[in-house]
Amino acid sequence: MATANGTLQGKVALVTGGSRGIGAAIAHRFARDGAAIAITYASSPDDAHEVVASICHAGGRAMAIRADSGDTQMVQQAVRATAEEYGRLDILVNNAAMLRIGLIDEFKLDDFERMLAINVKGPFVAIKEALHYMPKGGRIINIGSVSSEYTPINGLSVYSSTKGALASMTRALARDLGDAGITINNVQPGRIDTAMNPADGPIADRVRSMIALGHYGHPNDVADAVAWLASPDAGFVTGANIKVDGGTSA
Ligand code: NDP
Repeated sequence: MATANGTLQGKVALVTGGSRGIGAAIAHRFARDGAAIAITYASSPDDAHEVVASICHAGGRAMAIRADSGDTQMVQQAVRATAEEYGRLDILVNNAAMLRIGLIDEFKLDDFERMLAINVKGPFVAIKEALHYMPKGGRIINIGSVSSEYTPINGLSVYSSTKGALASMTRALARDLGDAGITINNVQPGRIDTAMNPADGPIADRVRSMIALGHYGHPNDVADAVAWLASPDAGFVTGANIKVDGGTSA
């Protein structure tokens, strides 16, 4: 992991789904770069409070908010609570997502709707609300997936569709937000070792053979790219899709 550099001193960041995995790595990285952090979670309060405690123990500022990304009012409230607690909101990372794998004949339509709500509508609602608070120079970073353009295993039609929608939304919003001086980008992880995609899971060896670098990524690999997009160095980058996939889609 790259050395933290204090580039986010004085900034406030909200990371959805920050209680573990990639979201937790982003929260820790932002905190080390100097930002005050809010994370959301849906069902893992202990993990969320552990992330908060760890950041505060290291001298940072952090808070956890229970907010199901599929629930519009909870998402709006999470954004508001962050801005009210810290007095501003500079960075929004839409990281929370739901993954269900299944072939079309067996895929439950309720799951389809829930995935759309969490993976697509949730980010849109969070962005819409965040724009009430975000100043010029603000940063929005969506966490998509390389699955939006590369699906080497069966059963990913719904998940890939939601991540494709997120990528398209990102590009279109880059146009809409340009005049406000706010950038928005989409980071597309490949196979990253988390609870969602464990490196010792049942299909891990097959998956590993598809990665050019030959191994799963670490959540910090994604956090490093996100930290760069949030930093002043990425001020002219907007509407981009950045793959962090170890060459999975090469
Ligand atoms: P994890 O399952 O490890 O963590 C997911 C996080 O999101 C948890 O903090 C979880 O908290 C939270 N979360 C899940 N559902 C909701 C919800 N409805 N509302 C609010 N929070 C929620 O996932 P990853 O870290 O692996 O994934 C993070 C992002 O990266 C996702 O967008 C995923 O699609 C993307 N990604 C991951 C890849 C991988 O290989 N790991 C590959 C490509 C993309 P709680 O348990 O409390 O719900």
